[in-house]
Formats: sequence, structure tokens, C-alpha cells
Amino acid sequence: MNKKISIVIPVCNEEKGIKSFLDERLLPALKKIDKYKVEIVIVNDGSKDKTLEIVQGYAEKDQNIKVVSLVRNFGKEMALSAGLKYATGDAVLTLDSDGQQPPEKIPEFLAAWEEGYEVVTGVRDHYTKHGLIPKLGSKLFYCLLRIMGNKSTVPGSTDFRLMDRVVVDEYNQLTEHNRITRGLVDWLGYNCKNIYYTYGKRMAGKPSYNIKKLFNLAIDSFISMSTTPLLIFGYVGLFITIGSFILGMFCIINQYILGDPLHLYWNGAVQMTIFITFLVGLVLISQAITALYISHIHAETQNRPLFIVSNRQSRNLEMSKKVPCPICKTEQKIKTEH
Ligand code: UDP
Ligand code: MG
Repeated sequence: MNKKISIVIPVCNEEKGIKSFLDERLLPALKKIDKYKVEIVIVNDGSKDKTLEIVQGYAEKDQNIKVVSLVRNFGKEMALSAGLKYATGDAVLTLDSDGQQPPEKIPEFLAAWEEGYEVVTGVRDHYTKHGLIPKLGSKLFYCLLRIMGNKSTVPGSTDFRLMDRVVVDEYNQLTEHNRITRGLVDWLGYNCKNIYYTYGKRMAGKPSYNIKKLFNLAIDSFISMSTTPLLIFGYVGLFITIGSFILGMFCIINQYILGDPLHLYWNGAVQMTIFITFLVGLVLISQAITALYISHIHAETQNRPLFIVSNRQSRNLEMSKKVPCPICKTEQKIKTEH
């Protein structure tokens, strides 16, 4: 039986370009993979223009085109999550509707999937994106992400991504609200291949991600993927406390024990400044300790699975029927194919 591929496309106010994207780019590209059964899941993310009517028109003509319409704009991340819930394919590929991510590359993604990769991520081969500020912002974002310990997210990786059914099923179990799809897929940690592509020009319309939205997205990524921001000021506090303690001890020994042989003449104001600095350091450390507790609460509320079993690699597991997941209480298929 033919394997089934789902193509998930989030759309928001794309009336100007959606027709030409589907007719001139996506549908011709899909003709080249006709050995697969293909379904297209278009997620209308609260469009205020004629996008919904246009995509509904396509769905009426073709049963394999499905439309998931959200009641209002929830943002691309949520639209992608909605699409992944409704996609039924053996592999699911997510793709923007503005032509910037070339559908012509889909056969390469499928070839990598057939090789055995469970995740295939499209990575922009160079920063063709918009102007100088987004370019620098993007570089800074990946630099900070690395500093914060997320080494698995490759700079330039995008949501042009193929995921095997096992990955989509795991992804659909995740319940956290502030979600960055690429970070979560990296966290799941399946066997991943990168495919480089040139980020094209928007076919029509304007990008809805302005600098403010991208900034918020970056903040969400840092906060949901790492606890380092919580701890940064703790380290600063530690540095200040140790520094001012050493300075304080030096002051006491120099002034009161040795009788100021260095002739520094540090008066009460200097001593008070050192003492206050020491206290500031302590306050910052105590904040970091509170932050550690918050980070534990944060991890609990994210409610991520404790571990993810690879069906492909595991052998002779006893549990071959559906069992309730001990964490989220929903039923999970745990079976091996070998
Ligand atoms: N999009 C969406 N909801 C939004 C914003 C964007 O579904 O709130 C869709 C949009 O229609 C497009 C894709 O997400 O298909 C990428 O959006 P955009 O081109 O604005 O972002 P960028 O190319 O800057 O990443
Ligand atoms: Mg775009």
C-alpha cells in the first residue's frame, strides 16, 4: 500500500499569494511524488481577508485537501500544532504558504525520510531574510541559544520540516502552551537530518512576523527551552558577593590589623560601599535560589514526558498494547516493529 504524506500549511491573510502558491508551486511539486498518497492540511489561522474562502474552494474540489479553520488568529506556532493534530499521514511535512520555503525540495525530504531519518529539517543556507536588523537578530538569537545550552538547534533551521508519524504522535502529546515547534522537536531528540535550501522571496503579501513578534518569539524560545536566564543574575550575584567579600576582608586586615601600611585611607563611606555591594550580591543570589524553585515548577507545569522510547531501536518489549501514559494519562501505543 502507498505510504501517505501530509503537508501541513499554516495560512494567515494570504489571499494575494495562496492561489499562485498552490497552483504554480505546491501542486506541480506534488506531481513528482505521485508514488505517495498525499493529503494537504491547510490551517487557516484566523485570516481576516478572503484566504478562507479560497482554500475552502480548493477543498470542495479535492477531498485530499483539508481545511482546519481556527476561530481567530492564534499565531503560527499554534496553527502548526493544530495542523499536526489533524494530519493523518505516515510522515507530516510543514511548509509556509508564501513560497519562501521551496516545495520543489519535498522529494529530498522524502528521500531522507526513506533513508530512516525520523525528522528532516530545512535549514536556510544563508541569511537571505529581510533586512540587516532581522539578519543580525537571527545571528544573535542562535548565539544566545547556544550560550544557554541548546546546542542541537542548527542556526537557520526553519519550520520547513518533515516528521515521521512516531514523532508527530509524541509531539501531539506535549501539552505546554508557550511552544516553539522547532525547539520542541529538537527536544524530542529523534534521528534528524538537515537539508539546506535557499530561502526565497515572498510570492505576494507581507510577512506577518514583524520585529516585535520575532522578539517575543525569541524570548519565548529562551524561556521555554532553558532556565539559564533565571540563573544569569545568580551568577552575577555570586561574582559580586565573592568580590566584595575579598575587598572587605582586605579592608579589615589592611586598616585595622596592619594599620594601613599601604596608606589607602579608606574611610567609612568606602567601607559602607563595600558592605552594601556585598549585600546586593547576597540579594541577587537569593533571587537565583528562588528562580531555581520557579524553574522546577516551570518544568512540572510543562508536563513533558519523562522519556521517549524509540520503537525502531527497542527490541522485544513486552508492552505491545496501548497503555496509559503515567504522566499525561492518555493512551500511548508502545510496541516494537521488530
Ligand atoms: N502565519 C500564520 N499565523 C500567523 C502568522 C503567519 O499561520 O499569525 C503563516 C503565514 O501565512 C505563512 C507562515 O505562517 O504561511 C509564515 O509567515 P510569514 O511569512 O509571515 O513569516 P516569516 O516568513 O517571516 O517567517
Ligand atoms: Mg514568510
